[in-house]
Amino acid sequence: MPETAVVWLRRDLRTRDNATLAAACAADRVLPVYCFEPRRYGQRAFGGAASFEYDGVGAGRAQFEREAVGDLRDRLREIGSDLFVRHGRPDAVLPDLVEAVDADHLHYQTLPIPEERTREHQVRRALPEAVTVERHWTHTLHHVEDLPTPYDEMPDTFTPWRQSVEAESRVREPIEAPAVPPVPADAPQPGPIPELADLGVVGDVPDDDRMPLDFEGGETPGQRRLEQYVWETDSLRAYKQTRNGLVGRDYSSKFSPWQNVGCLSPRDVYQTVKEYERERVSNDSTYWLNFELRWRDFFQFQFAKYGGKFFTPGGIRERTDLDWRRDESDFRRWQEGRTGVPFVDAAMRELVATGYVSNRARQNAASFLVHDLGIDWRWGGAHYEHHLLDYDPASNYGNWAYIAKVGNDSREGGFDVLSQAERYDPGGEYISRWCPELDGLIAEYAREPWRMDEEEQRERGLVLGEDYPEPMVDPERL
Ligand SMILES: Cc1cc2nc3c(=O)[nH]c(=O)nc-3n(C[C@H](O)[C@H](O)[C@H](O)COP(=O)(O)OP(=O)(O)OC[C@H]3O[C@@H](n4cnc5c(N)ncnc54)[C@H](O)[C@@H]3O)c2cc1C
Repeated sequence: MPETAVVWLRRDLRTRDNATLAAACAADRVLPVYCFEPRRYGQRAFGGAASFEYDGVGAGRAQFEREAVGDLRDRLREIGSDLFVRHGRPDAVLPDLVEAVDADHLHYQTLPIPEERTREHQVRRALPEAVTVERHWTHTLHHVEDLPTPYDEMPDTFTPWRQSVEAESRVREPIEAPAVPPVPADAPQPGPIPELADLGVVGDVPDDDRMPLDFEGGETPGQRRLEQYVWETDSLRAYKQTRNGLVGRDYSSKFSPWQNVGCLSPRDVYQTVKEYERERVSNDSTYWLNFELRWRDFFQFQFAKYGGKFFTPGGIRERTDLDWRRDESDFRRWQEGRTGVPFVDAAMRELVATGYVSNRARQNAASFLVHDLGIDWRWGGAHYEHHLLDYDPASNYGNWAYIAKVGNDSREGGFDVLSQAERYDPGGEYISRWCPELDGLIAEYAREPWRMDEEEQRERGLVLGEDYPEPMVDPERL
């Protein structure tokens, strides 16, 4: 009897290095499926203590996802297969499709976040017992089975974990894109890719001429960016020196949006870096890009270890000594880039306008919210979740928790945002780009406009409180 497999694609929208797809292709007939999960769009709730509501996937993220699905569908159609797209809960969609094609097997990518795990359990429960189910771990550089210690025993600080992984774990070879068997003859209609309005997503897709890069979803654009950053522009050669940049296309790789939707596998990036080391140069920059991929892995495994505890106000450190403020008006000023602290405002405006912000600016804006305004770090995390094209639950909330001192960093204190601005934006270029009302001021005033007295403000045509906000906090305390 010919065997039929359904493959449920999730944050693994690629044909290359996709162990889930490759395993499903052992069957004679394969039905690849993607679900636009309705519970991710529109209003979402942060449960538990001090619960709150927020807007789920934003327009930029949803559009990137749509493009990634479209690209995968095109690639599968080119090789005689297809991608079956549904807007519905996976635990309703998948049993229907399994029944329609009389499938023997279901394969899916397993993910570390409690909500994503719950979806998996719901799907398994809804399937007939005769269907064999196989889950595959494909989201990280190091396979979960190759860790030196199981994740539930891993250290909570990055350095010892990274050292043990570097010494004792290997990175598996990426898997070539498989030959995908035909879809079952009795397969239903492939279905349309839902429009943003169908998904209930409101707001505009970021389209700003200051975008650092054309972020288009899909394996094809993702591979193109890998090629461009590593080989064409040779930017990898100096990554360690440029990675704290704020403005431009190539100061960092910008791989993250493609990685987190799964268009680009971390192992493919790693292998490309290794090839580059053999063919061009092996230096501290090439080492550092792979070092950063291990940060990404670290958070994925930390979330597998701690689960829901990561999303509580006191985080994995179970801190009860922090009394977070929940002031909506102050929070709105931060969200809208009207704090009166230009380095922070530039970051927040860039986030909304483009869906991407450098690591350095993300850190400073986050630190300002939690340490200078004292506002619940999870509110900030939810705002990033809505806008960031590269949103990944573990990377986002893991970094937020780290900065809020409730996660994997036991040191005290936040960033000195003024000295950070001086160090990383010495000419004020980043600030002028996103706060054009400060353009034309000397860099020192662009960074700290309150240094101008009233006469200087009038002379320079920038009156604080009218043309640009007064700082929300006393600059002496920053
Ligand atoms: C508050 C806050 C929230 C963040 N939210 C996210 C998020 O939702 N998704 C996300 O991918 N990254 C997040 N980051 C981490 C980091 O800012 C981005 O990964 C990075 O800026 C992406 O740009 P890039 O691909 O050019 O990075 P590069 O500097 O080129 O780094 C290469 C890759 O390494 C990984 N990486 C680098 N730094 C980190 C880090 N600190 N944590 C985890 N992985 C890292 C990413 O996969 C990245 O693509 C967050 C950081 C902070 C401070």
